[in-house]
Amino acid sequence: MDKTSSAPPILELRNISKRFFKSLDLAGRLAERLGADIHEEIVHAVDNVSLKIEEGQVVGLAGESGCGKSTLGRIIAGILEASEGQVFYRGEDVALMTPEQAQQTVLKIQMIFQDPFASLNPRMRVEDIIGEAPVVHGIISAKERDDYLDDIMIKCGLDPSFKRRYPHQFSSGQRQRIGIARALAVKPEFIVCDESVAALDVSIQAQVLNLFMDLRQEFNLTYLFISHDLGVIEHISDHIAIMYLGRIVETATTEALFDNPSHPYTDALLREVPRLENRHAIFAPIKGEVPSPINPPSGCHFHPRCPKAFDPCAKSAPALEATGQGRSVACFLRGGES
Ligand code: SF4
Repeated sequence: MDKTSSAPPILELRNISKRFFKSLDLAGRLAERLGADIHEEIVHAVDNVSLKIEEGQVVGLAGESGCGKSTLGRIIAGILEASEGQVFYRGEDVALMTPEQAQQTVLKIQMIFQDPFASLNPRMRVEDIIGEAPVVHGIISAKERDDYLDDIMIKCGLDPSFKRRYPHQFSSGQRQRIGIARALAVKPEFIVCDESVAALDVSIQAQVLNLFMDLRQEFNLTYLFISHDLGVIEHISDHIAIMYLGRIVETATTEALFDNPSHPYTDALLREVPRLENRHAIFAPIKGEVPSPINPPSGCHFHPRCPKAFDPCAKSAPALEATGQGRSVACFLRGGES
């Protein structure tokens, strides 16, 4: 995202693609052996994504379910490997790092998941969930652990006197705070939040969002905040990237994007924004189904649903191009052809 600085962005993605192979089930394999014309399918989860995130930014990554945003988050966090493309952290290509550098980078980029219960080991006490990794990675000594743990728990709004409890003894909001404390304990610089408040009640969501913002100030954190909920994204982000079927179709500052959406898909999404005060609105902004990433539409992936589609849209894909004032758009009505 645009920002005038001589330092490289904290994170840069160059032409990242991720494909998953969907194997045939038993019936499919049998049918294939008998000569049926069926094959392993390829899911195009992320398709040629380039993105820069500057230090200290909070970038919201939004789009409908299945658009590839969680896969992109996992690639950034080092949980998944890209099929193609490069990930740069502070100007260094992650794939070319030494094992020690790569290990440090994995610690610097932490991910917080949607379901805190599923992401916390139910058989570990909170003191071990939060305190184990910083000792193992030499961030603190074993002697320092107790004080360090107490400090992190307090900063995350948790009572340190509960540190010997197990995850099931906490509420869902507290469990999410434990997940945040675990991530924070290894001194990250960049946090990928994947639908991190989606499973929480509205009042707890607001508290956890405020915690994210407080921690950002205190630890100079950079966030990629992934959500299908544009109300949440608007609340927390200073920049937004909109994703559709594996591609980023628009990036802009939050204010510019909400004031004046440029891409037809962004425009359609914003007409039905579920805001914090209107949480129960059904998020169904656009007519028609999201096409399958197994067989995405030709050209601009959005063309079968786009009210402004015209002849070239089905033939080639528009490139994501800068249109001024920090905005980039992938649409023939706004820019050029890839
Ligand atoms: Fe719509 Fe064509 Fe623009 Fe795609 S390129 S968003 S189909 S007008």
